[in-house]
Amino acid sequence: MQTSVLIVGGGVVGLATAIELGWRGQDVVVVDEGDGTIDHPRTGSVSARSMEFCRRWGIVDEVRACGFPDDYALDIVFCTSMKGFDLVRAPFPSMRDMPTPQQGPEKRQRCPQMWLDPIFARTAAAMPTVTVRYRTRIDDLVVDPDGSVTGLGHDLDSGEPVTISARYAVGCDGASSAVRRALDIGTTGNPLLNYSINVMFRAPRLLEQTGQGEAARFIVVTPTGTLGNVTVVNGTDLWRFTYIHGKERPDLETLDIASKLQQALGEGVDFTIEDVAPWRRTELVADAYRSGPIFLAGDAVHTMSPTGGFGANTGIGDGIDLGWKLDAVLRGWGGEALLDSYEAERRPIAFRNAGASTRNLRGWHTEQDASRLLDPGPEADQVRQAIGAELLGATSEEWTSLGVVLGYRYEDSPICVPDGSPAPPDTFSEYEQTNRAGARAPHAWLAPGESTLDLFGRGFVLVDRQESETESKLLLQAGETLGVPLTRVELPTALTPAYTTRFTLVRPDGHVAWRGDDVPDDVEQLLSTVSGR
Ligand SMILES: Cc1cc2nc3c(=O)[nH]c(=O)nc-3n(C[C@H](O)[C@H](O)[C@H](O)COP(=O)(O)OP(=O)(O)OC[C@H]3O[C@@H](n4cnc5c(N)ncnc54)[C@H](O)[C@@H]3O)c2cc1C
Repeated sequence: MQTSVLIVGGGVVGLATAIELGWRGQDVVVVDEGDGTIDHPRTGSVSARSMEFCRRWGIVDEVRACGFPDDYALDIVFCTSMKGFDLVRAPFPSMRDMPTPQQGPEKRQRCPQMWLDPIFARTAAAMPTVTVRYRTRIDDLVVDPDGSVTGLGHDLDSGEPVTISARYAVGCDGASSAVRRALDIGTTGNPLLNYSINVMFRAPRLLEQTGQGEAARFIVVTPTGTLGNVTVVNGTDLWRFTYIHGKERPDLETLDIASKLQQALGEGVDFTIEDVAPWRRTELVADAYRSGPIFLAGDAVHTMSPTGGFGANTGIGDGIDLGWKLDAVLRGWGGEALLDSYEAERRPIAFRNAGASTRNLRGWHTEQDASRLLDPGPEADQVRQAIGAELLGATSEEWTSLGVVLGYRYEDSPICVPDGSPAPPDTFSEYEQTNRAGARAPHAWLAPGESTLDLFGRGFVLVDRQESETESKLLLQAGETLGVPLTRVELPTALTPAYTTRFTLVRPDGHVAWRGDDVPDDVEQLLSTVSGR
C-alpha cells in the first residue's frame, strides 16, 4: 500500500488526525491492531474545543446524539460512600440545560469512548481518501533513503505481512508507544502519581439503591484517604469505578477489588463487574514530537491524570495542529519549519494541561483531619461540611475549565508573528477571547447558527474589520505569488469586539498567526514566516 500519511493507532487521536487530514483531501491509512470496538471506555467528556473541531468536520450533531441521556444531571458529589454521607454536592446541569459558553459556538459533550471512537472511525472511513484498517499491527517503521517511511507489519487474522509506504507517519499508538520507544525518545515529568485500577461495572439500580440523585461523578473520601471515584458512563446502567491504590504496585491476585467497589457504593448495593484494568497514573511529556518523517501525537507524547478530562482532548488538538501542517507541506506551499513548529507549539500545551490535571488530582485529597468523617452527630457534620467545602474549592478548575480548554496559546511559536503586547494571564477556569498571535481566533455570532469560527479551516483567512480592500491587496497578492491559500473576509466591528485590530491573519487551524492595524511593509516575509518557509 502507498499513502501520503500512515497513522499507527486508530484510537481517538489517530482517528481525529486522519479526519483532519482527510477533510483536507490527503491520502491517509490508519492502522489499528484492535477491531474498533471499545470494551473499556476511558474518555467520557469531549471538550468544547474538540466539539468545535467536530463542528468543522460536520459531525457535531452525531456526537451530540451519541446516546448519552440529554436530561441526566451532571452533578459532582464528594461522599464517604454512595450510600454514606455526602460531603458536598455541586449541582451541574444536564447536557440539555447546559448553556453554550459565550466565547464559543459549542459546549462540551458527554460521549463515552465506546460511542465516540466508532463515530470518528465511521467519519474517517467515509472519506474518499482515508482507509481505516483494523486487526493489523505495525511492527516497525523504517525511514527510507529518500526521506519517506515504510511501515512493516502484519495482519493479525491471516498472519500475512503488510507493507505500507508513506511520505510521513504519525505514531498515535498510546501511552506505551512502541513508535516513540523505537525512536529512542524519552519522557520528562512524573512517572508515578499513583497506581489506579479501573473497574467497569453494571448496576442498573445504583441510584435507587444508594438514594443518590444523578451525578457525573461520585468521589469517595474515607477517614484514611480518597478511595477513588464512581463515574457515569452511559447514563443508565454502565459505570466506572477508579480505585486509587497508591504508590505501591497492586497485586491483583491478593487485592479484593470487588470489596473496594462495594465500599465505594455501600453495603447491599448490587453490581456486576465487566472488566478490570490496572494502570499507572503519570504526568509525562515526550522529549521530542518528531524524528524525520515520523511524528507522534496523543498519549504517545503526553500522559496525564484524567482529572479534568484533558488527555484525549489535548491529543485531538495535536492532530489539528499537525494536520494542516502536513497538508501544507504535501501540497508544496508549506515549508519545513512548519513541521518543526508542531513540537514547538504542542509540547508546551502538553506540559500545561498535564500540570493542570495533576493539580486537580491533588485537590481530591483533603489536608484536614478526616478521622471523624464517619462519626454520627452535628460535630462530625461540621467536619464533613468543612472537608466538602475544601475539596470542592480545590477542584474548581476541574469542573470549570474553559480557560484550559479554549485558552491554550502558541506563545513563542516560530510561525506566529507577535505584536509585542504582553501575554495575558493563563487562567484555567476563566477564558477571555483575544486575537493576539498564537491564540484561538475569537468566536462571535455573525447570524443565527453562523460563527466566525465557521469561516476558518481551509486556508489562511485575513479578517479585515474595514470595508476598503485596498490595504489588504498587497497581502493577498503575496499569497498568490507564494502559493499560500489566503482569502479576505470583512467582519462587522460591532459584532466582533474581540478582534481588536483592523487585521487578523487566521491560520487553517483557527489560531491567529498575526494581527495589526496596518499591513506590514514586507508582506512576503510575513507570509513566509507563517507558512514555515
Ligand atoms: C479513567 C480515564 C478516564 C479518562 N477520561 C478522559 C476524558 O473524559 N476526556 C479526555 O480527553 N481524556 C480522558 N482520558 C484520557 C484518554 O482516554 C486518553 O488520553 C486517550 O484515550 C488517548 O488516545 P490515543 O488515541 O492517543 O491513545 P489510545 O486510546 O491508547 O489508542 C492507541 C491505539 O493504538 C493502537 N496501537 C498501539 N500499538 C499499535 C501498533 N503497533 N499497531 C497498530 N495499532 C496499534 C491501539 O490498539 C489503540 O487503539 C481518560 C483516561 C482514563 C484512564
